Amino acid sequence: MSKNFLSELTGSFATPALENPTGVMMEAAYQYLGLDWRYINCEIQPDDLKDAVLGAKAMNWRGFNCSIPHKVSVISHLDDLGESARIIGAVNTVVNRDGKLIGENTDGRGFVESVKSSLELTNKRVVLFGAGGAARAVAVELALAGVAQITIVNRNQARGEELAQLVADNTLAGAEYHAWTKQYQIPAETDLVINVTSIGLYPNVDAELDIDTDSIKSHMVVADGIFNPPETRLIQTAKSKGCTTVNGLGMLVQQGAIAFEYWTGKAPSVSVMKAALSDALDITDL
Ligand code: NDP
Repeated sequence: MSKNFLSELTGSFATPALENPTGVMMEAAYQYLGLDWRYINCEIQPDDLKDAVLGAKAMNWRGFNCSIPHKVSVISHLDDLGESARIIGAVNTVVNRDGKLIGENTDGRGFVESVKSSLELTNKRVVLFGAGGAARAVAVELALAGVAQITIVNRNQARGEELAQLVADNTLAGAEYHAWTKQYQIPAETDLVINVTSIGLYPNVDAELDIDTDSIKSHMVVADGIFNPPETRLIQTAKSKGCTTVNGLGMLVQQGAIAFEYWTGKAPSVSVMKAALSDALDITDL
């Protein structure tokens, strides 16, 4: 009987790559389904990205994730883009479809999946802090998921206005930019507050968003894209106000689960992925 010693390859291109735990949850999910697939975490400098992509293609990788700082620059090395990646203008997941490299974006859908169990999104009002790559993905997918209104609050005005315009032009949701004034007041009618800036990300864990905390009300669901640490200052404050909170680990697992399905055509066990991640990060309440 002939044996197959050739594993299918996937992985990640980013720098820094040292603290990226994605491989642990992906390989656990591959093993659980009995798939001989590997996930290789690669440290790739910006100048080497093109060679890395060509290398992945030459080695017939089934796909790879892109993270900071390659999510936009990778596009020029790909054959085509999926619909939401095209609107978002950034790619976090590349899929090898019959030898063609197609860019997709699973960050926003991952966020939507992670928040759905805490809030029915239809017709809700959202305040979103940030306008970088992840914020663009989250805003576009929330709009496609049916929220009524998204207020973008961002330090850099041009980037914030551009994201509000992007949502307004490409989806049915209303969108506007608010300048990030000192002690920003969250409008009382807000249903969902999201941090998609890097404020509070390890190692700057004590950094806080400049928000008037009295404007955070208990009826609001408060979510943070940051998963390291899972309990950011924002999440702690929101819990103390009695809000339902959603940390960034759910988004991390769900964006990975969607990428897994793009690559393998099979739905992974999300609970196996969560367990592997909790183990790797020493987290008990994932
Ligand atoms: P970008 O570098 O593209 O964007 C960074 C954003 O943070 C910008 O809006 C920037 O504002 C804002 N920002 C950074 N520092 C400050 C500051 N001191 N004051 C005010 N605003 C600031 O990063 P990404 O969009 O890729 O990532 C954003 C966050 O989302 C990160 O924390 C990342 O860890 C998280 N993330 C989580 C994922 C998950 O699976 N859980 C997946 C992807 C990202 P400005 O435009 O003014 O510079």
